[in-house]
Amino acid sequence: MRAEPDSFIRGMLNALPEHAAIIDGAGMVLCVNEAWREFARRNAAAGFADEGEDYLAVCRKAIRSGDRYARQALDGLESVLAGSTEAFTMAYPCHSAKEERWFTFHATRIDAPPGGALLRHANVTHRKLAEDNLREREARQAFLLELTDALRRLEEPREITQTACEMLARQIGADRAAYVQISGEEFVFRESHAKSATRLQGRGPVALLGRTMIEACRRGEMVWSDDCDLDPRFSQPEREAFRHFGARAFIGATLIRNGEWVGAFGVDSIAPRKWTEAERELVREAGARIWAAAERARAERGQRESEEKYRALFESIDEGYCILEAIVGEPGHVQDFCFIEANPAYLGIVGAGASIVGRRGCELFSIIEEEWLEAVADAALRRKPVSYEGWSKALQRWLDAFFMPIGAPGAALCAVRVSDTTERHRAEETQRENAQKLLEADRRKDEFLATLAHELRNPLAPIRNAVYLQERYLADASGAARLPGLLKIMRRQIDHLVRLVDDLLEISRINRGVIELRKEPVELASILRQAAETSVPAVEAGGHGFTLDLPQEPIRFVADPVRLTQVFANLINNAAKYTPSGGSITLRACREGEEAVVSVRDDGVGISADMLPRVFDLFARADSPRHRTQGGLGIGLWLARSLVAQHDGTVEAHSAGEGAGSEFIVRLPLPPAQEQLPEEPPPIAPVVLAPPARTAELRVVVADDNRDAADSLGLMLKEFGAVPRVVYDGRAALEAVKELSPHLVILDLGMKEMDGIETALRIRALPQGEKTMIAALTGWGQAEQRQRTQEAGFDRHLVKPAGIDALGQLLREAAE
Ligand code: ADP
Repeated sequence: MRAEPDSFIRGMLNALPEHAAIIDGAGMVLCVNEAWREFARRNAAAGFADEGEDYLAVCRKAIRSGDRYARQALDGLESVLAGSTEAFTMAYPCHSAKEERWFTFHATRIDAPPGGALLRHANVTHRKLAEDNLREREARQAFLLELTDALRRLEEPREITQTACEMLARQIGADRAAYVQISGEEFVFRESHAKSATRLQGRGPVALLGRTMIEACRRGEMVWSDDCDLDPRFSQPEREAFRHFGARAFIGATLIRNGEWVGAFGVDSIAPRKWTEAERELVREAGARIWAAAERARAERGQRESEEKYRALFESIDEGYCILEAIVGEPGHVQDFCFIEANPAYLGIVGAGASIVGRRGCELFSIIEEEWLEAVADAALRRKPVSYEGWSKALQRWLDAFFMPIGAPGAALCAVRVSDTTERHRAEETQRENAQKLLEADRRKDEFLATLAHELRNPLAPIRNAVYLQERYLADASGAARLPGLLKIMRRQIDHLVRLVDDLLEISRINRGVIELRKEPVELASILRQAAETSVPAVEAGGHGFTLDLPQEPIRFVADPVRLTQVFANLINNAAKYTPSGGSITLRACREGEEAVVSVRDDGVGISADMLPRVFDLFARADSPRHRTQGGLGIGLWLARSLVAQHDGTVEAHSAGEGAGSEFIVRLPLPPAQEQLPEEPPPIAPVVLAPPARTAELRVVVADDNRDAADSLGLMLKEFGAVPRVVYDGRAALEAVKELSPHLVILDLGMKEMDGIETALRIRALPQGEKTMIAALTGWGQAEQRQRTQEAGFDRHLVKPAGIDALGQLLREAAE
């Protein structure tokens, strides 16, 4: 009976993959399968019993030996056998010396009599490990996600490593976590977190890790030690160093950048700890992520800083800078552009008050020249850098621009650097004009010097001839009769020389602004008559007809009569000079409102249109042969204009061209009509050239270091009947004064050693010089000079060359 079901049951049990057994209601093992028996034989494991053994007793025995899973199993089994539960399941470890094993224990009640239970032990190690792994992986992934998430929100690389240290230490349950930087042969703890140990800080030698580890680190591998004290890879000193830092076990993920070992990220434990592979994997993956996050932060910070720098640079450079996007019309043709960026300097150049970002070129500029659009097309579309300098009609300025392609090829963008070169262009223009003017002035000066030499030679030749003839005539008794003719020639030529030199002096005075007008109430007609009179010789020499057309009403105003006479005489002389003989000259004057208008007209050679604007320039002379023959210096009109300007008037030249005659019109401002000048102006004193009365026995000392000048003055004085003593320096003058107690002393101011001023001061200090009249003789006649001589005790101030009448006057005054 028993054999049938037995073998049936046994066969059934053997078909099960697990270790299976059937027990009866009292716990007696009725039947086990092969797997059960085999496992029991190999492991002599607790929880297994053979057929005929009391399974419950086996369990109790295991409980007694400290197996807490056996207690659980017994409780479960008893409740199944008692019928209070249908089935019971539990998992338990059943490790062998070689491997970790996990089992499940199932007990299922057998309802058919006599009852009992089906027991199954299944080896689920694979499943359990797979599940554990999965769980662990999930947990790790969750942690890594959380870590990445936390780090993403941080901007500073330091914050990132610090936060990562805290999170990782917590996750692994390590005592500490740290980020270590490798610099050269040293490691430096940068950021660290310590849960239950002192924080890692300071630095140490990389050599501490031992050669094997260092090499692994350099290869970018993970390094770890479960117990540094026992780790055979460390030497004794290295172990001590670990002890010094308080690390007994550690895991480190090395950080490699550009093939270089630059740092490590790891956790450690103050006690030995067996790190699991999952933990090592976690540190490795976390290390990689932290490193990536820190790199990202560093890069972002770098970019932020470089953007800030770029922005600051962009905003602060004093050259205009803008970024344009080309607006394309027909293919390859730019019809407008849009501003993407523009710095303040650019806004300044284009005169835009507010930002122009987003605005179009055509909104900003009334006209955009084709050349600018073409340059934008070259840079933005054809990706070719170009520079262009041109005039912007819209801005009315010169702009120099450099266009650079930027952005991706299809972006149609270009950066433009613009500078305003208007000032430079203006400066260049002025420079060109100035150079032209200088050239012209230089040419005129050369011409002037040549003319001057010629003009000076003209009178010198007849003078030299006359002197030569004089000697001949004097040697011959009959020659004396011919002397007056010679002397007339000499005097005329010398007068001409003096006039030339006077004109030259005048230029220098006007240019230095030292010319002084002696203004007084004057009447225009009398000035014009005087000028006409002065010009009579020139008009007569040309055989011209002369018409003087003066107003009925007197025109009175305040002016320097001598200077104005000079101006009009000059114009009349020119008219006579530049009119072929037998011409006619008209001098006309009238009042026009609050102006006196004087015109000097001739029907002479005229002035060409290109010469007309230049006739008043210094040394300006017309080039035509008709003008040339007159050999002027080109000073007269310049002087005339300067003197008229000093009277607040103007002078204009008119001519219809060469051969058409000329007209010069002078306009002088008049006081308002009602403001009548009180008195009739005195007539201008005619120039008196009569020799002075003889002043007999007048003792005169003459001192001048120019011997010729001194001697000839001595002769003149003798001629006037005075008794001159001629000396050539100040000291000799003092001696002469002591000796002669003269009536008059004439001193040249510019004497070497002791000049005229000092000599005068010393003479005044002498008893013989106290009352003597002292006269200065000098080339300088301005008020300033006159004041100086007056202060030095001079009584008179004569300007060289002193005319005969001035000398006569001086002698008369000294005689009084
Ligand atoms: P100068 O007569 O000594 O050359 P000016 O300054 O008086 O110098 O005149 C400048 C130039 O103007 C003259 O060289 C001459 O070419 C021209 N000019 C002046 N006056 C007349 C005139 N009345 N008719 C024609 N040309 C004149």
